[in-house]
Amino acid sequence: MSDERTASGLIHHGYTPPPGFAAPQPAVHKASTVIFPDVAALRARDWRHKNGYTYGLHGTPTTFTLEARIATLMHAEHCVLAPSGLAAISLVDLALLKAGDELLLPANVYGPSRDLARGLLARLGITHRLYDPQRPETLAAAIGPQTKLVWLEAPGSVTMEFPDLPALVAACRHAPGGPVRTAIDDTWGSGLAFDAFALGIDVVMQALTKYPSGGGDVLMGAVCTRDATLHEQILLAHMQLGLGVGANDAEAVLRGLPSLVLRYDAQDTTARTLAGWLQTQPGVARVLHPALDGAPGHAHWRALCAADAGRPQGRAAGLFSVLLDAGYTRRQVDGFVDALRLFSIGYSWAGPKSLVVPYDLPAMRPGDERLQGHLVRFSVGLEEAAALQDDLAQALARLGAPTRG
Ligand SMILES: *Cc1c(COP(=O)(O)O)cnc(C)c1O
Repeated sequence: MSDERTASGLIHHGYTPPPGFAAPQPAVHKASTVIFPDVAALRARDWRHKNGYTYGLHGTPTTFTLEARIATLMHAEHCVLAPSGLAAISLVDLALLKAGDELLLPANVYGPSRDLARGLLARLGITHRLYDPQRPETLAAAIGPQTKLVWLEAPGSVTMEFPDLPALVAACRHAPGGPVRTAIDDTWGSGLAFDAFALGIDVVMQALTKYPSGGGDVLMGAVCTRDATLHEQILLAHMQLGLGVGANDAEAVLRGLPSLVLRYDAQDTTARTLAGWLQTQPGVARVLHPALDGAPGHAHWRALCAADAGRPQGRAAGLFSVLLDAGYTRRQVDGFVDALRLFSIGYSWAGPKSLVVPYDLPAMRPGDERLQGHLVRFSVGLEEAAALQDDLAQALARLGAPTRG
């Protein structure tokens, strides 16, 4: 999985323009109705196998092209798009689980995924339990006869600890009652930091909202598989739920893909520069970035993501958190965040604009004493590292020293 192969694969991916119009950029095809030449054609086309177009909801040349490119990116055989990353998560859960089944989630899972389990899935009779992703033995112990799906995520997208993914997958594979199906939220890795399918994971989900779009202007998700039967099961639920995506949005993601590798690596480089610098700053108790020595799960990140010959320093997203000294008051921390100028206050990440969000750590992790302090998460955009560092420096200067000691 070298740089060159991934970027070139995305840029030179097959596309056939209309005759006489040899433009390489895929067009926006919009339709609800697709006209069939005759009844025989209507009867012959089957949306399940993409052997033709049947109805806008079942796919258009624009969405089929995007699905094929995301499958290439993720080293998958099949891909289906959903209207958001969260819709892709709920699609996987609803496609693969039924009443009486149990779902296992990492304790640091993307928050809305846990809310879905607590809410809609619970109402449907699907139970869930949390495991500690940093202790694979807690996953092995949690798997029971009703466990039908285990979600993985690397790293936690707020607390940033990187798990031992091979050990977690092994726990699912070697469960006493037989292998348990696995799904990973690979939004952070974007198919670039590591190859989830090579680890033996069954379903790879990604929020295209983040790096593949890169513009901060689209919501979309993807669910990728290598197994045709599993794909069909997901596609059937996708159809029954009516999870179509807009052609303009699909085309916006298609426009982002050629620069995906360049953006990912640039944002990674800037984030590592800033994270390393922040480690040296008074008032910063800890920097949580999986590529930093001593960060939670760093050895697991190194084992999985630093081995890629395509980039000697390995890959990590432009996302990290800091723990400000517990001696600061919440008001001081809010003042620090408010003082930032290039980091805008807002959710999401991977767009051109740097973003920052303070999180309430005790509320996220009741009873977990491992992380102390005030957590502030940064998403690095495409601004110059020096400009972002100057911004952080001026806001830290205003923060001053902790008031409580
Ligand atoms: C953003 C995000 C999602 C959800 O994507 P949306 O398109 O915003 O619904 C899921 N998982 C992770 C890790 C994310 O960062």
